[in-house]
Amino acid sequence: MKQLLLLLMIFILSVSANNGNMNNVKMRSVVNPGYKNSLAILTVKSKIKAYFSTISGVNLFEKDKNNQQMPELVNENKRQIIHIPDIQGYKTMKCDFHMHTVFSDGVVWPTVRVDEAWEDGLDAIAITDHIENNPSKSFLGGDDNSSYEIAAPYAKDKNILLIRGGEITRSMPPGHFNALFLSDVNKLDVLDYMDAFKAASEQGAYIIWNHPGWKAQQPDTCKWWDVHTELKKKGWLHGVEVFNEQEWYPIALDWCNDKKLTYIATSDIHGLIASTYNVHESHRPVTLVFAADKTEDALRDALFANRAVAWFGNYLAGSEDLLSAIFRASVVADFAEETQKSKIYNVKNLSDVAYQLASDDGTRIKILAYSETRVNIPNNHDLRFEVTNLMITATQNLKIDFPVSK
Ligand SMILES: [Zn+2]
Ligand SMILES: [Zn+2]
Repeated sequence: MKQLLLLLMIFILSVSANNGNMNNVKMRSVVNPGYKNSLAILTVKSKIKAYFSTISGVNLFEKDKNNQQMPELVNENKRQIIHIPDIQGYKTMKCDFHMHTVFSDGVVWPTVRVDEAWEDGLDAIAITDHIENNPSKSFLGGDDNSSYEIAAPYAKDKNILLIRGGEITRSMPPGHFNALFLSDVNKLDVLDYMDAFKAASEQGAYIIWNHPGWKAQQPDTCKWWDVHTELKKKGWLHGVEVFNEQEWYPIALDWCNDKKLTYIATSDIHGLIASTYNVHESHRPVTLVFAADKTEDALRDALFANRAVAWFGNYLAGSEDLLSAIFRASVVADFAEETQKSKIYNVKNLSDVAYQLASDDGTRIKILAYSETRVNIPNNHDLRFEVTNLMITATQNLKIDFPVSK
């Protein structure tokens, strides 16, 4: 009871010390206490301090002299959100299926790839260390499953799907290939490359031809060899990287379209993502996979069904139906007003892809990424547009009517 009375007195004292004038209330907390009431306020504070020290046994007002923290100096745990709408009843999964660690010729420990993926807003990755090229073998043991096994529990904690994979690394032909969804990467470490493909296939692997136009292997050309026809015939080739690291291969778009292979974009990162790509203003190359849910089985089913689109820079490369579905799900045009010369629409873009439209009569429309744009379509102009950054083949882009009819 005595304590309660003391508290009440302290409260009255502090109120009277601070609010003496209803006409002119000063924000004393923002200035130094160099005025006449400061002594009274300090006395009140010290009484409160003494009171709390007594009841808690801990002095909350003293600084810890052994360890003070400055959390403002370090990054918050921040994950980017990639905006690409779901389509055709599937979830849009953002994936990178090609990356290296110290277990081949990369520079990072496997868990770093998981952190980078989480920060970049990805849903799934595959670590694909070279099976035949492992410079750190004498230090790290040379088990081709190690990078997956080290990163897998960490990926699970961070809700990143980690796919077990490896890069079949051969001279041209046939070149380099990523085998995904493996159960034992070591079984692919064999002399004859056809035996490596066979071992991958026996594990139900999904196989991608990597960087087909890489100048180290095809300096003057990007050639489809007979062996690729043979691999395709055997069911041992399912996708092609149309984009790798910072380069893309227009002719590979034709292969994907003609031969019904999946369009794939990957980083093939060896160093650090943040020092290679401008992750704040742009993004690493990403394969968008349209899966029933966020599970390895659904991802595998989607890839084998070619439900994927390659995204790099401001370009999407994929089949006509998937590109059309992404465009339709992204762009919402609401009629705003009609002038004598044109119709004006408020156009929302729900995706991080800026769409560039061009019509035969020279009309150009830019629909900015993830924002609303006011678009002016002159009367009597063609409403059939080519979306110049949505590519189906090396020479064919998606064509749409704009505004899209519902
Ligand atoms: Zn490679
Ligand atoms: Zn690679």
